[in-house]
Amino acid sequence: MRRVVKFGTPVLRQKGPPVGTVTPAIRQLIADMIETMYAHKGVGLAAQQVGVALQLTVIDVRGVTDRPSSIEIEGRAADVDEFMPLVLLNPQITPLAPPVCGPEGCLSFPEIYADVNRPEKIEVTALNEEGVPIRFRCGGLLARAIQHEADHLNGILFIDRMSREIKEDLRPDLDALREETKLDEREVRC
Ligand code: ZN
Repeated sequence: MRRVVKFGTPVLRQKGPPVGTVTPAIRQLIADMIETMYAHKGVGLAAQQVGVALQLTVIDVRGVTDRPSSIEIEGRAADVDEFMPLVLLNPQITPLAPPVCGPEGCLSFPEIYADVNRPEKIEVTALNEEGVPIRFRCGGLLARAIQHEADHLNGILFIDRMSREIKEDLRPDLDALREETKLDEREVRC
């Protein structure tokens, strides 16, 4: 298990370099991230969220039953569950459909939820946990989760994608969280 860093921690704003080879250290990081994601009942976790700026994310949408996901491999619909947990290194995303509005949360923003617009369907190219190139299309919650996580890898947070009105409404909560993070980080250092 690794500690999940919260909003206000500088690493969340760092763009991660691509993963070159899957070393034992990367394998360990992947295993730790999956365990940490499950422990926090998250749908996804980016390396930045455990304090490492890297193009690496883990995702598992199986815990969510009320928001459907779809996946297509080489033009054929496949069973989403079979691909979970999904590990993506160096993901690249191409939108295939117009944006839709949907609710999002983030383990680095406890108890903050808001609507965010994102393309409903995307194509993803990446390397898997073995360093093998993969390509697939996906929709629904899975597409949303991958876009949220891929943003993290580039130092982009879901608050950056919210409408100005929503972000203004959240401003007091965000300011409070940032202050709390400052105090927590001080404690961790001591
Ligand atoms: Zn997040």
